[in-house]
This record gives sequence, structure tokens and C-alpha cells, in this order.
Amino acid sequence: MIRLPLPWLVFTALFIFLIGIIVVWIGYEIARRRREARALEHWTACRICSYKFRTDGLGELPRCPQCGAPNTRTPLRIF
Ligand SMILES: [Zn+2]
Repeated sequence: MIRLPLPWLVFTALFIFLIGIIVVWIGYEIARRRREARALEHWTACRICSYKFRTDGLGELPRCPQCGAPNTRTPLRIF
């Protein structure tokens, strides 16, 4: 049996608990970023007027519905 003084036992339990919270937090953040990137996959922002629009079925160079400028398909970035 491992003998630990009480302060070390409390510290170890608290440390393991905090490590668990950080691992869950990082995993949730990675999943959230992937989900948002997937949601914005078919959206692009006009390079002239910054209007955001869907590019599904708009051809190779989708035209901005706001100003009519041709745009390349560049997925929106969150960060
Ligand atoms: Zn535009």
C-alpha cells in the first residue's frame, strides 16, 4: 500500500481532477471548431464588399449577389 500524507493526497486528487477538466475542455474545443468549420464550408465572403453568401451550385467563379464581383471559392475562416 502506498502511504501518502494527507496534503499530498489532496494535491494529487486535485491535480488529476484539473487534468481531466483540461482534457475534456480541449477535446470539446477541437470538436466545436471542426463543427463550425464544416458549417461554414460552403460560405464565402466577397473580396470587394465583404458580403457573405453561400456558394452551393454557383459555378467555378461565384458572383457576389450584393455587388456582382466574381469571387474564388474561399471558405470563411472563424479566426
Ligand atoms: Zn460583393
